[in-house]
Amino acid sequence: MTTDLPRIALLGLGTMGAGMARNVLAAGLPLTVWNRSADKAAAFSELGADVAPNPGAAVAGADLVVTMLYDADSVAEVMTAAEPGLTSTQIWAQMSTVGVEGALTLQGLAGRLGVGFVDAPVLGTKKPAEDGTLVVLAAGEAAQLDACAPLFDAVGSRTIRVGESVEGSRLKLVANAWVLAVLEGVAESLTLAEGLGLDPGLFLEAVKGGAMDAPYVQLKGAGMIANEFPPAFSVDGAAKDAALILDAADRVGIRMDITGTALQRLRQASDAGHGADDMSAIALASRRL
Ligand code: NAP
Repeated sequence: MTTDLPRIALLGLGTMGAGMARNVLAAGLPLTVWNRSADKAAAFSELGADVAPNPGAAVAGADLVVTMLYDADSVAEVMTAAEPGLTSTQIWAQMSTVGVEGALTLQGLAGRLGVGFVDAPVLGTKKPAEDGTLVVLAAGEAAQLDACAPLFDAVGSRTIRVGESVEGSRLKLVANAWVLAVLEGVAESLTLAEGLGLDPGLFLEAVKGGAMDAPYVQLKGAGMIANEFPPAFSVDGAAKDAALILDAADRVGIRMDITGTALQRLRQASDAGHGADDMSAIALASRRL
């Protein structure tokens, strides 16, 4: 480390990366950012970050390199472009959702690039990213996880150490299968309520505060009823994750029927023009059926 506080390079300022970058700065960690669409990065210069023109310039001089990009392919593309600025003392904290095979591929890429690798996807969506209350599912060598602790503490309220390889990405798929099950379940119950001639809001009222309620049920259910889908996580992003879950399950001989249904409905919503809307637009596909 060049200073007591690790210098962070954060690649990717989408919904999640933007909130994370703000919390890295709020924690007092020196930060350089890069984003493919430069307009999103420019705003961070006023907040105290260095804005780099390309990935190589962003990672040069960093202690920790964070990727928060769309999928394994975009992460591999950007880290390959960053190669001129990478050195063997750096640790790459890969925090995007890339699935198990994607994480193994990126771990291999880190080996070829000669940097340390930590597999650290997160639980939580736009608001927890903005609030610094993500849950970090971290896997890697203990010393490397120790080095990432100031970063993880800045963006999250909890870090769970789950293993030494890509167990973070395994647990992320497990958790996202639950997210998709709840989302699809809420969509179906609301659609059924409408079909049975009820005000769908009665469903949310009936479960409110009981054992079958959850903040997520009320939040996503209210958006579905209002037909308002400002993106916290997009339909297309959720479909990407559903496909990663199905692939990982298939490789170990497990059927995931709810995830399979959710994927179909997410694709229908995307085909109907809602790919960039919040994943709760899955309800539109339920209603159309
Ligand atoms: P997002 O808003 O769609 O942002 C995606 C980011 O990736 C943007 O910075 C985008 O750049 C960049 N990107 C995409 N393709 C690229 C490419 N080929 N080359 C370079 N940059 C590329 O996504 P997000 O919601 O922040 O999610 C980021 C990651 O976190 C994903 O892996 C997602 O699954 C995961 N995640 C999301 C949530 C959530 O609730 N949103 C929760 C947990 C985990 P541009 O700005 O130029 O498009």
